[in-house]
Amino acid sequence: MTTSAELIEVSERRSAHNYHPLPVVLHEAHGAWVTDVEGRRYLDFLSGYSSLNFGHGNEKILAAAQEQLRNLTLTSRAFYHDQFARFCAGLADLTGKDMILPMNTGAEAVETAIKVARKWGYLVKGVERDKANIVVMEDNFHGRTTTIVSFSTDPDARDDYGPYTPGFTIVKYGSADAIRSAIDDDTVAVLVEPIQGEAGVLVPPDGYLTQVREICTEQNVLMIADEIQSGLGRTGRTFACDHEGVVPDIYVLGKALGGGVVPVSAIAADEDVLGVIKPGQHGSTFGGNPLACAVGSAVVEILRTGEFQVRAAELGGIMHARLRELVGHGVVTVRGRGLWAGVDIDPSLATGRQVSEALMARGVLAKDTHGSTIRLAPPIVISEEDLLWALDRLAETVDSLR
Ligand SMILES: *Cc1c(COP(=O)(O)O)cnc(C)c1O
Repeated sequence: MTTSAELIEVSERRSAHNYHPLPVVLHEAHGAWVTDVEGRRYLDFLSGYSSLNFGHGNEKILAAAQEQLRNLTLTSRAFYHDQFARFCAGLADLTGKDMILPMNTGAEAVETAIKVARKWGYLVKGVERDKANIVVMEDNFHGRTTTIVSFSTDPDARDDYGPYTPGFTIVKYGSADAIRSAIDDDTVAVLVEPIQGEAGVLVPPDGYLTQVREICTEQNVLMIADEIQSGLGRTGRTFACDHEGVVPDIYVLGKALGGGVVPVSAIAADEDVLGVIKPGQHGSTFGGNPLACAVGSAVVEILRTGEFQVRAAELGGIMHARLRELVGHGVVTVRGRGLWAGVDIDPSLATGRQVSEALMARGVLAKDTHGSTIRLAPPIVISEEDLLWALDRLAETVDSLR
């Protein structure tokens, strides 16, 4: 069992069909390049949905992981370990917050933020028990738990998973007025992606995040920014909220926090918020484990210098300039920020899936979202030359469809 065809056949027969992967079987990767089992090379323009911002096999991250693998990998939170303090203090400094609550996956971090916001609502704001509501956005993506899919507006993500968790009010993304109207005395939080990734890299109107911040402050409601995909360098800043100088009450982080090595997620908040959680009230066996903390600390170190943020901004400028040239030539619109773009292909030419397959044949791996949109998010370590090469392949692909 060694060829792509054989491995794909067994994968499809012996695993649930909860994904529809491109027909490529990867074997190894370095930087922005991945190689399949037949030795074909591709540029990775998905980066594990921005989990690989710092590249495949990043040396600093690998070194930290390898050293930690030899020393200590798991303790559970029943004991302290020597990587925990550094990770929490480092990430707290990076976010400008007092405290960290580490988890593993993004969905767990979102769940953590929801629990903290509800508890804060009851203990601090004085909302009547079990009455709290949270304002969320249309076309959101926050993960796959039963509570999170309860407030998804994507039928694929939500249908047939009821009964659903109550306590969420869904409003239009990008409208501050919609949030204002939805908030009532029992609202404890507004949960928002500063840029909606899965929805197609949707950037809200200028000033939106500032208004969300103002409304939350005025109404005594927590602003929760899900920066799992938008954060940690991708948009050219440490956090997408930084573009408007906005500081949420709770940052939700994941994906790239694990350096492409292990799942690491966390929420960051000040003590008046995170302090509501007491021993026994929330937790995770693997959350904040030594390996995760060592890797997470390496990521924090990398981000502290600001180099990746600057690089994402510079390469992003180059990428968006090139993509704009394609508008009107098979591309309808291009959105995004930093080294992150959503590209709407003329739906009469091809589906996003067909474009992704055609790109793959030319040596570039990207993934469609809804309809004819593809998203581009190469590792930030990509060279300018490779970036331009891949964008030429996209131009060629779109041209071949016309
Ligand atoms: C990926 C993602 C999540 C969920 O993270 P998992 O690690 O897959 O659970 C949540 N929110 C956003 C914005 C994401 O992009």
